[in-house]
Amino acid sequence: MAIQTDIIIVGGGSVGLHCAYYLLKAGRKVTLVEQNQIGDGSSSGNAGQIVPSHIIPLAAPGIVSTAFKWMLDSKNSPFGMKFSLDPTYILWLIKFAASCNDANVQQAIPPLNAIGQLSTTNFSQIITQEKFECAYQEKGVLFLYKDAKAFEDGIEEGKVMQKHGIPIEVLDQEAIRKFEPVILDSIVGGINMSGDSNVNPAVYLKLLGERLREMGAEIYENTSVTGFDLVAGKIQGVKTSAGVFEANEVILAAGAATPIVGRDLRLNIPVQSARGYSMTISAPKKMPRQPLLLGERRVAVSPMGDLLRFTGRLELSNVDRTVNQKHIVGIERAVREYMQLEEKLDVKETWAGLRPTTPDGVPIIGRSARYKNLIIATGHAMLGLSLGPGTGQVVSELVSGQKSAFDLSPLRIERF
Ligand SMILES: Cc1cc2nc3c(=O)[nH]c(=O)nc-3n(C[C@H](O)[C@H](O)[C@H](O)COP(=O)(O)OP(=O)(O)OC[C@H]3O[C@@H](n4cnc5c(N)ncnc54)[C@H](O)[C@@H]3O)c2cc1C
Repeated sequence: MAIQTDIIIVGGGSVGLHCAYYLLKAGRKVTLVEQNQIGDGSSSGNAGQIVPSHIIPLAAPGIVSTAFKWMLDSKNSPFGMKFSLDPTYILWLIKFAASCNDANVQQAIPPLNAIGQLSTTNFSQIITQEKFECAYQEKGVLFLYKDAKAFEDGIEEGKVMQKHGIPIEVLDQEAIRKFEPVILDSIVGGINMSGDSNVNPAVYLKLLGERLREMGAEIYENTSVTGFDLVAGKIQGVKTSAGVFEANEVILAAGAATPIVGRDLRLNIPVQSARGYSMTISAPKKMPRQPLLLGERRVAVSPMGDLLRFTGRLELSNVDRTVNQKHIVGIERAVREYMQLEEKLDVKETWAGLRPTTPDGVPIIGRSARYKNLIIATGHAMLGLSLGPGTGQVVSELVSGQKSAFDLSPLRIERF
């Protein structure tokens, strides 16, 4: 016999957990199904940076040629891609290349800015109200540059952000040394995105998961969703390894695995997995005072209490979280080009995670036009932690039929 519930959420990453939080706050009954442990997937070992400043999508002019140039340097490249003749992958690549233009950037900025701002406010509220101790700090994220031309390009990008209300501070070579003493003399300048913040994502999501249980969520861990029963434009049943669930609403938030989980739905969900890596060490003798982004190398450095995490590399991949040590070594090498670091590091963890990436660099959030009780929330790429709380709020608003906090039409799946 089917298990009855009000709302079923598929996936217990940042997106699924935040959806559960806002739905429970709105008084709904929530069941969450996660194939592993909640908060332990691609959302846990990431850089923990909450970056409302990231309003320029991945699909932007010049990115394709830059990516090819990077790939010529296999040792240090921040980018990689699998080779596959799978038509879905090839179509995704074509759509991505076609989106790398200024029109796409202009279209993407308003929704990314709106959800980024909403999420930042919500993050601060959740952490304060729930009294989460999760190494949260509101000091900004500091971009660093070794190359004068890259610094100039960074300033130009910063001007675009400023135009859209994002606070930035440009720091020349002298100012940056005073601002962040841990950096090397070769750094020519930096830009502090002062409205950004950071957390330890694993700790934050663990606390969020515990809070959801206290609020009454029914959480099924080690339970896989295997398919859907479909009847007359509706999801009649969600098939799982723990039995079939019948729900008023189904929220699909399975990150990079969403197209696989949703295959019975026969929807075009163009989400491609983009693997990245992290290495976490015990606090070195000299800790950066705030998170850093190493401009040319695209590596993030994130202080998290008594830990320091380095993250980097974006490779279009299969849904596979195997850690490639070669890239961990490359990330460490990049960090040493920007900041002081002792020779021997006390490595606590190496990790790989998957960014669910859409071809236009904008998430998919909205009610499906084909199945009246289905909401899709995925495709947050490099921003799934940052944008989790805003996504949770607007999904809850969609469920209750309330007016959304901002215009969701640019996020609808039907745009593809
Ligand atoms: C190296 C790296 C650094 C990053 N740094 C940042 C950062 O600083 N800030 C930021 O905002 N973002 C960052 N990100 C991106 C962020 O981690 C992702 O966008 C985010 O994890 C996506 O969240 P999600 O909930 O959509 O997916 P996930 O976290 O992947 O959650 C999806 C869940 O669905 C579950 N699932 C899949 N299939 C099934 C099934 N059949 N049945 C049941 N459950 C299933 C999975 O097990 C998983 O737990 C980074 C990513 C990487 C790789």
